[in-house]
Amino acid sequence: MFTPIAGRSVIVTGGSRGIGRGIARCFAGAGALVLIVARDEEAARATVAEIRSAGGHASYLLDDLADPASADRLAAAALDRYGAIDVLCCNAGIYPATPLRELTADRIDQVLAVNVRSAMLSVRACLAALERARHGRVILTSSITGPITGYPGWSHYGASKAAQLGFLRTAAIELSRAKVTINAILPGNIFTEGLEDLGQEYLRQMESSIPLGRLGSVEDVAHAALFLASDEAGYITGQTIVVDGGQVLPESLMALDEL
Ligand code: NAP
Repeated sequence: MFTPIAGRSVIVTGGSRGIGRGIARCFAGAGALVLIVARDEEAARATVAEIRSAGGHASYLLDDLADPASADRLAAAALDRYGAIDVLCCNAGIYPATPLRELTADRIDQVLAVNVRSAMLSVRACLAALERARHGRVILTSSITGPITGYPGWSHYGASKAAQLGFLRTAAIELSRAKVTINAILPGNIFTEGLEDLGQEYLRQMESSIPLGRLGSVEDVAHAALFLASDEAGYITGQTIVVDGGQVLPESLMALDEL
């Protein structure tokens, strides 16, 4: 039995849609006080309303994580509203496909700013509060793309997701003195609005390459996040959990044909 996390203050960047919404719903369902950070008000408001109508507690902050100053604002908002920061889920991310030949400095900077820099600055901004919590947790949403696999069009995205893990390993050592853990989840293909935008053909192709035979759900990722946030996961830091239905395992597509 896990110690309840009810009443803990949880920030979920990108919590208005997709995986982040799943994480926000899951933590709020466990009784946490959730602060969602995103730019689009309609989606953020809808997610907060959904959580509240299910009896949970959530609020939103509209901000652009590409702006370095947003990190201080999200930490201040959580402290102002909930008086503490127990868990920081750095989940917001973008994955605009661009073939390497067409890659520009601006496109690289855009992806790195949201996927990597904002996570690093958010951890820094929340660190004092996470230390005061005495069980502070940071959970990064990385990806199998970059750390383990590759996919045409996502060289910049893959680099950003691998960079998160480079950050994680040194951060875990530095944060250990503050008794704060930091871990990453590496989702495979999770059915979200962002993934749906990639088209039916992409979704069909991905589904056929997953041993467990289905795309992941946002809850699949959220449950891993909830575990990493628990008191019982307090001795795990600097680690990664792959949540991909076994997608990275087959040596070739023929391995699945053998089944
Ligand atoms: P999504 O459905 O597109 O949602 C992205 C979330 O991030 C939204 O809430 C979005 O809100 C927010 N966001 C994006 N840019 C932002 C910015 N500049 N400032 C503030 N918020 C911003 O994406 P998803 O598929 O759930 O992916 C979430 C995370 O999981 C990402 O880090 C992604 O790399 C990772 N991931 C996803 C998959 C997958 O299969 N879906 C697989 C592996 C890893 P606004 O647009 O309103 O700002």
